[in-house]
Amino acid sequence: MSTPAHRARQVLALRSAGITDTSALSAIENVPRELFVPDAFRDRAYEDTALPIGYGQTLSQPLVVATMIQGLGLVGREKLLEVGTGSGYHAAILSNLCRRVYTIERHRPLLADAEARFDALGVNNVVTRAGDGMNGWPEQAPFDRISVTAASDTPPQHLLDQLKIGGIMIMPVGGQSRLQQLVRFTRKEEGFESEVLMDVRFVPLLPGVAEAADA
Ligand code: SAH
Repeated sequence: MSTPAHRARQVLALRSAGITDTSALSAIENVPRELFVPDAFRDRAYEDTALPIGYGQTLSQPLVVATMIQGLGLVGREKLLEVGTGSGYHAAILSNLCRRVYTIERHRPLLADAEARFDALGVNNVVTRAGDGMNGWPEQAPFDRISVTAASDTPPQHLLDQLKIGGIMIMPVGGQSRLQQLVRFTRKEEGFESEVLMDVRFVPLLPGVAEAADA
């Protein structure tokens, strides 16, 4: 079930959880989350919970998506790289807040579904690629912002290298058996500043492109 009223309620809940960035909130309100989840989970699309999207992957909890988006401090002119397209939900929101979104996914069928959703919603500033996002997107680097939606113990060096000076990367850092934290890295003239935003639980960042048989 979904109506604009559900989305308005979702935004109220995000506000009371501490999300204050009004452009991020209206971008979230404009993207129908139920179009990004499998039919069986449609009636749960507006709960503040992660939902399965197939291939062992999940669509992140709205509060986590909102915290990541707010943390990027977008003004609308950015060239942004997303690693982990998944359902395309996060990218669809980002497309309303940036100039262009480059998004990479290692599961081809997930990417194909995400592309179909972008077409259906008229999202035309998202460029997709099937591949290993740990390598970043060298042909399009450097990026103003990088958003990684799968966790690893350390941030991949290629991604840090592809960030502009003054640029921001947000990613979940940590393993699968222990606590992960959402960390914001800001590239300085020399090195990086890092700041923990919240505790989170993400699927792992895995190398290579997934084979058809992979779950
Ligand atoms: N942002 C997504 C949620 C993605 S879940 C959404 O809005 O739905 C994390 C995704 O990262 C999964 O789809 C997983 O396949 C993908 N992933 C994991 N490691 C990756 C890698 N190295 N390169 C690209 N995608 C990767």
